[in-house]
Amino acid sequence: MIALLHPACNLRHKAGIIDVIQQAGLRARIEEHHEGERIGIPGASESLAEALEQLPGVRGILHQKASYGLVSRFASEAPNHPRVGAIHFGGPELVIISGPCAVESEEQILLAAQMARAAGVQMLRGGAFKPRTSPYSFQGLGPAGLELLAQAGESVGLPVVTEVVDPGDVELVARYADMLQIGARNMQNFSLLRAVGELGKPVLLKRGMMSTLKEFLLAAEYIVAGGNSEVVLCERGIRSFDSATRNIFDVTAIPLLKQETHLPVIADPSHACGIRSLVPHISRAAIAAGADGLIVEMHPAPEQALSDGAQSLTPSGLNELMRSLPAVAGAVGRRISP
Ligand code: PEP
Ligand code: MN
Repeated sequence: MIALLHPACNLRHKAGIIDVIQQAGLRARIEEHHEGERIGIPGASESLAEALEQLPGVRGILHQKASYGLVSRFASEAPNHPRVGAIHFGGPELVIISGPCAVESEEQILLAAQMARAAGVQMLRGGAFKPRTSPYSFQGLGPAGLELLAQAGESVGLPVVTEVVDPGDVELVARYADMLQIGARNMQNFSLLRAVGELGKPVLLKRGMMSTLKEFLLAAEYIVAGGNSEVVLCERGIRSFDSATRNIFDVTAIPLLKQETHLPVIADPSHACGIRSLVPHISRAAIAAGADGLIVEMHPAPEQALSDGAQSLTPSGLNELMRSLPAVAGAVGRRISP
């Protein structure tokens, strides 16, 4: 339940409201909302709602029946921020993930890992199971790719994230990956969501290319309801009528999601725009909007990439992007790990 505060609610009114909430044995969470200040009261009863409604300073009561009660900001449990080793999603330090779209060979992924490490990112990405639109496109190296990715990550000291597309592969992928990615095409693959819900490893859940934010949060709810609260959301662009870019980066989704959920939200500027030259701009926009990190494609030789070369940064492009981020992060009270 949420108590909406009147614009004229003063400190004395607020103290009175909080007192009534605490006397009922509950916690009051004060929130800044675009429609004004409000107090979230997880676990509030009908009678408490009635009592609060009478108090000066209260404009109204919002009976929240969020269908995504576990991932909601107002969930009764304190939010548990996902961690990958020493990396902490949702804290003051942003998490930057980079690497190629797909693991292509031992040499390619090792080179990519070294370059990602040198650029100063915190995690390495690389797909071994690729969900491709065409059955004739490169589908990834499968289990061999997982092994190469894990080796490359280990050799440079970066944890790895990789996509799982089949519920039957969850255990296998979890053996090699520090974090499992659910791609846009599988955001509503409910058996896959249930399977990673049983996992003791963090999950990077990407927004479906035609999914509403409510559907996105409900997909995350599947994973958390299954017992895994280590979920990081990723805005990666949605379909539109305009073919000028691969997708439309929904920058609004970032602050909106952060208002609705306690889960960290990162952005994927690569799949959002599909054009290398736009990636740094969208990366900075995402951070300015409050994203907790980025996942950016980088390939040692993008012109030779077996997938998504056109949107992959070159290693020097990644370096340049990384150098531009601290100023933007600092402007919104965040940091890039040194
Ligand atoms: C990817 O990260 O390589 C990928 C396939 O992304 P998405 O699921 O967002 O299209
Ligand atoms: Mn890709």
